[in-house]
Amino acid sequence: MPSSDLPRFDTAALRAQDAAHHLHPFTDTQSLNASGTRIIVRGAGVRIWDSDGHEIIDGMSGLWCVNLGYGRQDLVDAATRQMQTLPFYNAFFKTTTVPAIELASLLTEIAPPGFQHVFFTNSGSEGNDTIIRLVRRYWDLMGQPRRKTIISRRNAYHGSTLGGASLGGMSGMHAQGDLPIPGIVHIDQPYQLQHGHAGESAEHFGLRAASWLEAKIRELGPENVAAFIGEPVQGAGGVIIPPASYWPEIQRICDHYGILLVSDEVICGFGRLGHWFGCQHPHIGTRPDLITFAKGVTSGYLPLGGVLVGERIAKVLIERGGEFQHGFTYSGHPTCCAVAVANVQAMRREGVIERVAQDLAPYLATAFGTLADHPLVGDVQSLGMVAGLVLYKDKASRTLFDAELGVGYRCRDHCFQNGVVMRAVEERMIIAPPLVMTHEDIDEMVRRIRRSLDDTWAGLR
Ligand code: PLP
Repeated sequence: MPSSDLPRFDTAALRAQDAAHHLHPFTDTQSLNASGTRIIVRGAGVRIWDSDGHEIIDGMSGLWCVNLGYGRQDLVDAATRQMQTLPFYNAFFKTTTVPAIELASLLTEIAPPGFQHVFFTNSGSEGNDTIIRLVRRYWDLMGQPRRKTIISRRNAYHGSTLGGASLGGMSGMHAQGDLPIPGIVHIDQPYQLQHGHAGESAEHFGLRAASWLEAKIRELGPENVAAFIGEPVQGAGGVIIPPASYWPEIQRICDHYGILLVSDEVICGFGRLGHWFGCQHPHIGTRPDLITFAKGVTSGYLPLGGVLVGERIAKVLIERGGEFQHGFTYSGHPTCCAVAVANVQAMRREGVIERVAQDLAPYLATAFGTLADHPLVGDVQSLGMVAGLVLYKDKASRTLFDAELGVGYRCRDHCFQNGVVMRAVEERMIIAPPLVMTHEDIDEMVRRIRRSLDDTWAGLR
């Protein structure tokens, strides 16, 4: 739709209203109100439009979630049909609904082997809170109640509830509200730029980073450790793609000490890495006991999350556990589940996963990789449909910019001006575009990113 056909919006009035009443998540309200918010009014395919009619390629799929892109009538129809039939009913008191039954069964079909059960939540954060409850309940039922500690990683993101933020390793979040809660500890992330030694191979670094888990387990005493949780690729932390040696070694350590492995697939699930779940990518190759999912399960059209519970845990919970005292009003919300069923069926019908693995991911890797020749850019990397690069002050000596300069945020702003959404995480610029991009969309996105890097570069001279 050309911008002239969009309905007219009074951007200034909407901004003033927003500033007066809306507290945005993860936002410094004073600074937002000084600059004014961008009001997104429409989406179609891989593009969004703001209230001034600017067309923008959505390089972040909303917030890592609009995997099938905007404007899908089949998802709208699924929601409409379910709302007309039964907008809501709960799953608490020996009742359920048809979409919840269908979705639970469909998810176990696409999950890795060994997953036959699903617990539904509204979000990824609630999914990870559920993980804490499940893991602790499991070890109690196993007669090992001392196994309470969950090990996670610094700079991981696992959500914003007390449990999710504690599992996450974001120092800024921990500083607000006395987090983490007891029983959650962190090791360093497998980020070679930060923790690598000079001249160290990626393979060696991956093994060394995994060894931090073993050291932590020994320090705590294996009899006190319940689980390790990690994102296959850390998303919000800046698309940190670990070396190929990392995850197999983590799996070996978890197996050796008998601790549960939790794969937080809130970003990496539903095709993001060219597989239904990120743990199935050969670069990751883990066999988790629990999988958290959200976001892409509905392509973000409605909120839904949950936990795929491996049979090792489900069997104990079901056969010995009695009532599991946990749940949300909207666990298994029929309208959200109906949209998720339609979303997964569409991904299957349209071969989205196969296309990402065989065509789009390699195409993105090559196209995004061309940015490596830019004077600001180093360490260009991608896996599936996530990619990142590092902004360097001096590439040759790998010197980073002073954080106070906010070069990443300047680059992000130029991206918006040039019609592409890209996210800045300290020295890293990252993307996670919809899984339905064409080659032309990818080429155009990369052209707009290059223009934005040029503008950032020009502003620094
Ligand atoms: N886990 C991961 C890996 C995430 O990236 C996120 C959100 O970005 C969450 C959990 C939290 O999900 P939600 O925002 O739906 O609560």
